[in-house]
Amino acid sequence: MKHNPEKNWFGEESVTPEVKTRKVIGVFDSVANNYDIMNDVMSGGLHRLWKDHLIRKIRPRAGLHYLDVAGGTGDIAFRIRNRLNTPALALRASQNPPPRAGVLEGETRITLCDLNTEMLRVGRDRALNKGYVNDFDWVTGNAESLPLPDNSVDVYTIAFGLRNVTHIDTALTEALRVLKPGGRFYCLEFSKVREPMLAKIYDEYSYRLIPKMGELIAKDRDSYQYLVESIRKFPSQRELLGRMEAAGFSRCRVENLTFGVVAIHEGVKA
Ligand code: SAM
Repeated sequence: MKHNPEKNWFGEESVTPEVKTRKVIGVFDSVANNYDIMNDVMSGGLHRLWKDHLIRKIRPRAGLHYLDVAGGTGDIAFRIRNRLNTPALALRASQNPPPRAGVLEGETRITLCDLNTEMLRVGRDRALNKGYVNDFDWVTGNAESLPLPDNSVDVYTIAFGLRNVTHIDTALTEALRVLKPGGRFYCLEFSKVREPMLAKIYDEYSYRLIPKMGELIAKDRDSYQYLVESIRKFPSQRELLGRMEAAGFSRCRVENLTFGVVAIHEGVKA
C-alpha cells in the first residue's frame, strides 16, 4: 500500500496536498456555526450514541493526559471530562487563584487540538456555557505535526477527524510519537457497511439526502457534498487496521457500530 494515498483527494476532486488542507480548513470554517445541529439532523442523534460508546470503551479515570485531536466543538473532550471526578471539580471552581487551564483534579489533563480556529471558537463558547471554564487546553494544530512532546499523552482520541487529514499515515505515526508507552489510541470514524442491501440504502441516503440537508439547513451544499465523498474515500476497517499496524501500533482491533456505518479502531503503543 502506498504511503498517504489520500493526500491528493478532496472528496472526489484531485488536488495537491496543500490545496486539500486549505480546502478542509475552508469546509470547517463554513460549517462551524451549524456543525452541532447538523450532526444531530444528519445522524438522527446517532452520533451521540457512537460518541458515548467510545467513552465507555476508554473508561476515563483521573490522573491521565487525554488528547482529543480534530476535537472541533468539543464533543469528545466534554464527554471525557464528564466521566471524571466531578465533585472535586466543583470544589476546584471555588479555588483562588484558579488552577492553570487544562489541569483537572489529580493532574488530569484534557487537551483539545484542531486545525480550525472557528471550530475551536465554537467549542470554547460551548465550554463556557457548560461552566467548564479552565478544564481544557485548547490548541490549534495539525494532526500531522502535533505541538506536543514525545511520550506525553496517555489516551489519544480522534473522532470523525482522520477522514479529513491530508496525510493519514503521517498522523498515525505522529499519534504514536506523542503517546507514552502503554498509551492508547482510539479512532471513531465513518467506515464501510458490509451487508450489500444496507450498504445500498446507506449510500442512497448519504448521496441524495445529506447534501440537500446541508443546502436547506446550513445553506451550504458543497461542504456536505464533500462530507459524503470523504466518507466513501476513507479506508475500510481492515485497511485502516493494516495502516495502524504499519505505523507501529500493537494490539490493534476494530469494532463496528450500526452495521459498520462507523467503526472504532483502537491500538496501543508498546
Ligand atoms: N471530533 C469532533 C466531533 O466528533 O464532533 C469534530 C469532528 S469534525 C467532522 C472534523 C474536525 O477535524 C474539524 O474540526 C476539522 O477542523 C478537524 N481537522 C481536519 N483536518 C485536521 C488536521 N489535519 N489536524 C487537526 N484537525 C483537523
